[in-house]
Amino acid sequence: MSTKKIVVFTGAGISAESGLQTFRGTDGLWEGHRIEDVATPEAWIKDPEKVLRFYNIRRKACREAQPNAGHLALVELEKYANVHIITQNIDDLHERAGSKNILHLHGEIMKAQSSRESRLVYPLDKDEITLDDVCELGSPLRPHVVWFGEYAPNMMIANRVVSDADILLVVGTSLKVYPAAYLLDEAPDSCKIILIDPNPNAIRLNSKVEIIKGKAASELPKWIENFAKYNF
Ligand code: NAD
Repeated sequence: MSTKKIVVFTGAGISAESGLQTFRGTDGLWEGHRIEDVATPEAWIKDPEKVLRFYNIRRKACREAQPNAGHLALVELEKYANVHIITQNIDDLHERAGSKNILHLHGEIMKAQSSRESRLVYPLDKDEITLDDVCELGSPLRPHVVWFGEYAPNMMIANRVVSDADILLVVGTSLKVYPAAYLLDEAPDSCKIILIDPNPNAIRLNSKVEIIKGKAASELPKWIENFAKYNF
C-alpha cells in the first residue's frame, strides 16, 4: 500500500447520483426552500415545526437512498492509501458505503441534538423529530446539523487533517459555503489538489488545482483505478 495521505473533501454533489438533491441548482434553493427559512437559527426560532418537517423529509430520503459508485470507490481507495474523508454532507452515505475515517463538518441528519446544549447529541432510530421530543435537560431536540450562521466545531480538526495531505481530492462541492471552502487553503504547497465536478466553480480555484469535469459516480472510480496502477 502507498503511504500517501489522501484527504477527500466531499459536498452534496457526491450524493446527487444517489438521488439526494444538491442545494445550489439553477434556482439556488434546497428542495424548493430558501435556506433562511429552514437552515438557520432564526428559522428555528420563528417556525421550529417547519424546520423539523424539512429535515424529517430529508432524513427519510437519506434512509431510502443508497451509496453510489462514487462513495463505494472511496472505500476501495483505502486499499491503496491512507484515506481521510471530510464531508460537508449531512447524509450517512459514506458510512453506509463502508469508509473508515469520516469527519462531518456540517453535522449528521441521522442524529438529534439538544436545542439548549449542542454537546448533547443522540442517535435517531426513527425518521422524525417532533416538537414533543426533548433532551435530558427538557429542551426540544433539533437536527444535529450546523446551520448557516452557526459555528462548525469540526473545522479546526479538518484544517489539521489537510495540513499534511499529499493529495486533496475535492468532489462535488460548489465551494460557496464558508468556512468549509477555506479548507483548500490549508493544503501544503506540496499537495496535489484535484476537483471532480461536472460544473466546477472557478471562484476558489487556481492553476494549481487539476479539474476533472464530470460526475462523481463515473470519474471517481476511474481516478482511483489509475491511482492504484500508477500511484501518482
Ligand atoms: P452545493 O449544492 O452548493 O454544490 C453541489 C456541487 O456538486 C456543484 O458544484 C455541482 O456542480 C456538483 N455536482 C452536481 N452533481 C454532481 C455529480 N453527479 N457528481 C459530482 N458533482 C456534482 O453543495 P455543497 O458545496 O456541498 O454545499 C451545500 C451545503 O448544503 C453543504 O454544506 C451540506 O451541508 C448541505 N447539503 C447536504 C446534502 C447532503 O448531505 N447530501 C445535500 C444538499 C445540501
